Amino acid sequence: MEIRVIPISEGEKKAKYTDESQLGFGRIFTDYMLLVEWKAGRGWVDGRIKKYEPFQIDPAALVLHYAQEIFEGLKAYKWADGTIALFRPEMNARRFNHSAERLCMPEVPEELFVKGIEQLVAQEKAWVPGSEGTSLYIRPAMIAVEPHVGIKPSDHYYFYVILSPVGAYYAAGFNPVKIMVEDKYVRATPGGTGEAKTGGNYASSLKAGLEAKKKGYDQVLWLDGVHKRYIEEVGSMNMFFAYGDTIVTAPLEGSILHGITRDSVLTLAKSMGLKVEERKIDVNDLMQDLKSGKITEAFGSGTAAVVTPVGTLCYAGETVEVGNGGVGKHTQTLYDTLTGIQTGKIEDKFGWIRK
Ligand code: PMP
Repeated sequence: MEIRVIPISEGEKKAKYTDESQLGFGRIFTDYMLLVEWKAGRGWVDGRIKKYEPFQIDPAALVLHYAQEIFEGLKAYKWADGTIALFRPEMNARRFNHSAERLCMPEVPEELFVKGIEQLVAQEKAWVPGSEGTSLYIRPAMIAVEPHVGIKPSDHYYFYVILSPVGAYYAAGFNPVKIMVEDKYVRATPGGTGEAKTGGNYASSLKAGLEAKKKGYDQVLWLDGVHKRYIEEVGSMNMFFAYGDTIVTAPLEGSILHGITRDSVLTLAKSMGLKVEERKIDVNDLMQDLKSGKITEAFGSGTAAVVTPVGTLCYAGETVEVGNGGVGKHTQTLYDTLTGIQTGKIEDKFGWIRK
């Protein structure tokens, strides 16, 4: 599909940030967005890069009532030589379509997804920050806009992409976060939507997140929805534990998001000579192994969070420090290698970079 650009005048453009150290996360948006529509009987139509502005959608739009919505998150990085690079965007396209299938939404052709993002980022290249730890966060989403009260898949969708120059996801930067293992609420159950990146999963997690914050924790670590016993994932990260030189993470069995950073960390860890295991982790064993010191490091992985060290874990009222509460050596190496590849400082042997 040809994506046309509807130019905006200089006067309509926003004032750009001046201080990259003050970007924060997800608060600033660029001048343009990508919008493509899907209509029953016609398929994908009218792809355009247009002014970033509010949508006019009907108050009865299906997304507003029944949450037929999916989204993605990836980043563009500016290298020292000016190159702008995307990290594994085709993986986001595939996961987006996996989510679409689960939510009865139309698939976006991989080429439209990736090329559309490339064209939008190229248009907005002046907005990609370049200082250490910054990037352009890319948020593709699809919403059901048909006005209809009554539960059914929509016959009209918007696929759109917006861009946000960002700094670190956690205000603390690359510093250990405090995580609370959630033993009251659950995020996902077998057969549910846990594996899809859909808004409802996040709406239903707000309450647990707020309660954890009140107790002084940054995020919650979800347990499986049936036994409340096996470790799943954190709000926006997959979880890893290091038993010395063995890195362990939960298996993908239907209720966990297939993290692209998770996949990259597993590949990198193997290439570094570490042993990796994808297996069920019983929270009781986890607490035992943390206390005995068998677990030497814990970290989360995600596009926004990159590799985030976990310093403290709390379960059932008991709080334990991971290792010495600081940043572990494998956590640091994985962070350095991953960000090194993303920012062009380390050679990409895996074919992950798309310039
Ligand atoms: N789990 C959840 C629930 C998430 O929202 C995210 C962020 N997309 C992740 C894990 C990490 O996935 P990725 O590495 O692809 O960003």
